[in-house]
Amino acid sequence: MTETHRVKADPASALSVPGSALSKTHSGPGAMEFSTVSSYKDAINRWNGKPYYSLDCYLKDVFHEKIYKLAIDGGFTCPNRDGTLGTRGCIFCSEGGSGDFAARRGQSFDDQIREGKKLLKGKNTGNRYIAYFQAYTNTYAPLPRLRQVYFPAARHPEVAAISIGTRPDCISPEIGDFLQELSYIKPVWIELGLQTIHEDTARRIRRGYPLSVFEEALGILSERNIPVIVHTILGLPGESPEDMESTARYLASQPIQGIKPQLLHVLQNTDLAELYEKQPFHILTLEEYTDLLIRCIEVLPPNIVIHRITGDGPKSLLIAPTWSGHKKYVMNYIHKTFKDRQTWQGRRFPQ
Ligand code: SF4
Repeated sequence: MTETHRVKADPASALSVPGSALSKTHSGPGAMEFSTVSSYKDAINRWNGKPYYSLDCYLKDVFHEKIYKLAIDGGFTCPNRDGTLGTRGCIFCSEGGSGDFAARRGQSFDDQIREGKKLLKGKNTGNRYIAYFQAYTNTYAPLPRLRQVYFPAARHPEVAAISIGTRPDCISPEIGDFLQELSYIKPVWIELGLQTIHEDTARRIRRGYPLSVFEEALGILSERNIPVIVHTILGLPGESPEDMESTARYLASQPIQGIKPQLLHVLQNTDLAELYEKQPFHILTLEEYTDLLIRCIEVLPPNIVIHRITGDGPKSLLIAPTWSGHKKYVMNYIHKTFKDRQTWQGRRFPQ
């Protein structure tokens, strides 16, 4: 591979982008560099009309066009479901392995890209996509199998970047080396489902690994300059607003490049749904969720990309909260609340 190709495809090629979340200077705690944002108005001007550094804004910074994600099913399973750690998975996880929107299992990568594009019909999508390996644990396989899945994906002409959802206990130094090799072809992001930093909650939701394992995975990935996006859930049973904010504060100090906060959804056919039926627990209202989300975003540094501000679980499976099905209304409400409060990402960072 020529040096020109390598530099072009390396995720760190975004180095020159102001506020880029892929900068090599972000590779370790205390090494982050960014210019501060001083007001709501400043944030809106900086981040294309939003008071936080959204994925949309980031993609335009880096790729200079709007790029959609296509959910790809790589045919993997999960150690928390195949009996290695457990068989019932995390208590909130639906049968689709948190990939209920993914294209059909068993289809070739090319077919899945074609099908995914059809679902975007009518949208102005441009020519390139992010291949998002979403369902289950997408580094949970021997290396030859990972090579078989990811090399063709990285070489696909319409793939701009690859996003891989996985568990921290499925990141080893060898897998880190493989991901680094892959990143010489196309940018590679790793999405880690952390959900919370609190060990008692982690046990309650049956996550299956302690925080120290997350930190080890982060070390492996940051040493290799692989950007990490962390999934968190707001509204887990037993967590106080302070608990949720402390997860965000902790992540603000870690070498991560993106965060995906999500509202807790109770979905059909999950153990969470069973628990909810037997011992109903408090489900966040839209107002409570918005307040918590804003509190969390305020403590994050301005260079961390906010990949979403609310998840939208499949409507056909959604038990609660039903308000979350009205995505447009929810987004408008959250943005209006930011404006009413004149607040923005990083307003309370550093803490
Ligand atoms: S790690 Fe992911 S795929 Fe596995 S059980 Fe938990 S949420 Fe589901």
